[in-house]
Amino acid sequence: MMRFLVFWLVMFIMACNPQSNETLDREEEEAHIIKKSDPPVAIVIHGGAGTILKEHLSDSLEKRYLFVLDSIISAGHQALEEGEEAVNVVIKVISAMEDSPLFNAGKGAVFTNDGINELDASIMKGKDRSAGAVARVKSIKNPIQLAHVVMERSNHVFLSGDGAEQFAKSQGIEKIDPAYFFVQSRYDALLRSKEKSSVSSVTLSEDEKFGTVGCVALDKNGDIVAGTSTGGMTNKRFGRIGDSPIIGAGTYADNQIGGVSATGWGEFFIRNVVAYDILARMLYRNVDLEQAAREVIFNVLEPHGGDGGVVCLDKDGNVAMVFNTAGMYRAAIDGNGIKQVGIYEMD
Ligand code: ASP
Repeated sequence: MMRFLVFWLVMFIMACNPQSNETLDREEEEAHIIKKSDPPVAIVIHGGAGTILKEHLSDSLEKRYLFVLDSIISAGHQALEEGEEAVNVVIKVISAMEDSPLFNAGKGAVFTNDGINELDASIMKGKDRSAGAVARVKSIKNPIQLAHVVMERSNHVFLSGDGAEQFAKSQGIEKIDPAYFFVQSRYDALLRSKEKSSVSSVTLSEDEKFGTVGCVALDKNGDIVAGTSTGGMTNKRFGRIGDSPIIGAGTYADNQIGGVSATGWGEFFIRNVVAYDILARMLYRNVDLEQAAREVIFNVLEPHGGDGGVVCLDKDGNVAMVFNTAGMYRAAIDGNGIKQVGIYEMD
């Protein structure tokens, strides 16, 4: 138990400290075997997809991302190995990513047109298809935890705005000063986006929407849980909500098939019901996870003009990380104990 707590603490500190000098001398993409467990456990995460080019990331920032992704996936996998339930692992992993200013979720969320942060999150359990989601919350430190409480303690699936915050209060969840979410680089991104939209008709910044976080886990009981959390898209307005809190679009889980968490241009993921479509193809057409994910990203999403990616796993512990953008922050340890951590183009 003590070992478990210490592990999470270390991971948390690493995720929160973007200035750490800690470096990992490794290639951008690596794959090595951790441990094969029986029954298999597996975990996969993303930290957003987009125009992530090597020339845009300094060496130290690249190492920082790789280190955080590696720490988080390893801690999540160890917890599953020790018998932790998938639901708890998904909440802890996403909370750690929400607490890290590296990602567009929780602290470090992008700004709306009004210069505030509005956060969306969802979680789904594959065992009974229970689900919880929140949108446009402004003073909840960890939206994924509120989504979980919606799932466990309300009769509803999806709460939004002031109502979601009232519900949080009724459940004893503390409010946080919205200033907590501020990160200068995200604010600068808003200013750039506003400048661009004043000279063209672009209202949402396509290049600066990324950094959403997600996690899918398979535990020793065969339970699959998926979750996603985001600040949405830079410069969003009119109460815009993307796919991340929408069950079936940004998040889906079913123990008989698998689980999916998505990231990318939310409008396209909503219209194409991306997360559910991947699992439906596996169920109805009997295609494997990787093929189903590729079909949806490249043959459905892309022809409609959408971009982004998904991380998914199936009931046997196979994982897939598929995207049509230049990069996607990602990591996985599959049911055979094979670890992958990557940022740039797919294999
Ligand atoms: N899907 C998110 C949204 O549209 C953004 C992202 O994943 O980067 O709100």
